[in-house]
Amino acid sequence: MGNKNKFKVKKSSIEGMGCFATEPIKKSELICNMKGEEISISELKKRYKLRRERDCDPLQVGEKRYLDLKKPYVYINHSCNPNGAIIHRNELIAIKNIKKGEEITYDYSFTEWTDDKDWEGYDEWSMECNCKSPLCRKKIREFRFLPNKIQKKYINQNRVLDFICKNIRSAVGYNKSIFGKKVLKIVSKIPRGKTLNYKRVAELAGSPKAYRAVGNILNKNYNPTIPCHRVIRSNGKIGGYNRGVKNKIKLLKKEKAI
Ligand SMILES: [Zn+2]
Repeated sequence: MGNKNKFKVKKSSIEGMGCFATEPIKKSELICNMKGEEISISELKKRYKLRRERDCDPLQVGEKRYLDLKKPYVYINHSCNPNGAIIHRNELIAIKNIKKGEEITYDYSFTEWTDDKDWEGYDEWSMECNCKSPLCRKKIREFRFLPNKIQKKYINQNRVLDFICKNIRSAVGYNKSIFGKKVLKIVSKIPRGKTLNYKRVAELAGSPKAYRAVGNILNKNYNPTIPCHRVIRSNGKIGGYNRGVKNKIKLLKKEKAI
């Protein structure tokens, strides 16, 4: 009624059901606003417990906010070479001209960003991909795990949710500060098999009291050549890691540092 969707649901070759354009859609045009009940992380966890995971289809719209998508929005499939993108908060736009009958897709990696602290004890979110695109990444993981090149490209093209843009931009700004640069330089020189604690890194960077800032800087570092996993807590505990604490332990064990 006035607000008719520009697509219909039918069987998809990517997975299960998909959404297919019922009219040509021009690049940059709004396809739809993604809709669902807005919920918090704790509510989402409850719903995961109550239902099988596949039945709960959350779209992250903020650092700690999700939309529990309703039909037909749950049926929009992922592609590693998508023709749509979700921007601002929940606006699905066309990033290419879409022909009538074409399946509408977006890249699920661009709408996922979790804080390990919120999901302790949960496995890292990932999905096997069946998009059949030559650009297929095979395994779909969160935005923060994408190669820097892809992250930059999509942020520059404004194809990413606002809260993710903000996170990445603040990380870049933070790590460009003089203290941030010093910290990253020190950490980049920690050899394989060795560790430093946050306090020691802060001392070496010239601000002994700034060990919490060291943690924040490393938490916002997504450059894989800087071995942040080699910085641990002074009490011998492992400390955080933005690619998952489990991965941190695995890496340190592999390097025989612990
Ligand atoms: Zn794919």
